[in-house]
Amino acid sequence: MMKKACPDCDLLVTITPLKHNERALCPRCDAVLARGGRSMDSIFALILSGLLLWVSSLALPILTLDVNGVQQPLSLWQTAFAMLDQEAWLLAILVAMTSFVAPFFHLAMMLWLFLPLRFERKPPFVGWAFRLLYANQGWMMLEVFFLSLLVTAVKLADSAQLLPGWSLLAFVALMLVMSAIQLLFDPDVYWRAVEQCR
Ligand SMILES: [Zn+2]
Repeated sequence: MMKKACPDCDLLVTITPLKHNERALCPRCDAVLARGGRSMDSIFALILSGLLLWVSSLALPILTLDVNGVQQPLSLWQTAFAMLDQEAWLLAILVAMTSFVAPFFHLAMMLWLFLPLRFERKPPFVGWAFRLLYANQGWMMLEVFFLSLLVTAVKLADSAQLLPGWSLLAFVALMLVMSAIQLLFDPDVYWRAVEQCR
């Protein structure tokens, strides 16, 4: 049994332990207060798919550069390096941070937090991992990512065309997976799972 204040209406509710797939709703405003253990498994599966999508989105071409009629497909990290060559430092850093450093960092931290739980072990430096995860959150906003993508497209528009290739598809899927992780991730459920293992 534990008590929790509703995040939406502040009502203090006593929550009994939940089974898999069960949810506790606020009796006053129907906000979801807690989820049963199932979401932990789903999050772990999503972290692994996220990492696979991250690799795909980097390896596959996202842009086609047209130089004097010669078409050269570029992957995202090659695009960032191409911008460094044009001395577009800020843009290169922005694109690098939002589209591949931040998602990878986020997924790596989540893996750090969730993998030991699979073996009923408490993750090392769990408090620090949590703080790093929240510090990284600002870079994880969808808007920041799409803005950087848009700016990149406009910036390179004169010499390159945006190829709606597999990389772009992998990116959209990655962003959906990241949002799903954030929706499912409930720190309360997580900490209770940590307290159960030694
Ligand atoms: Zn409520």
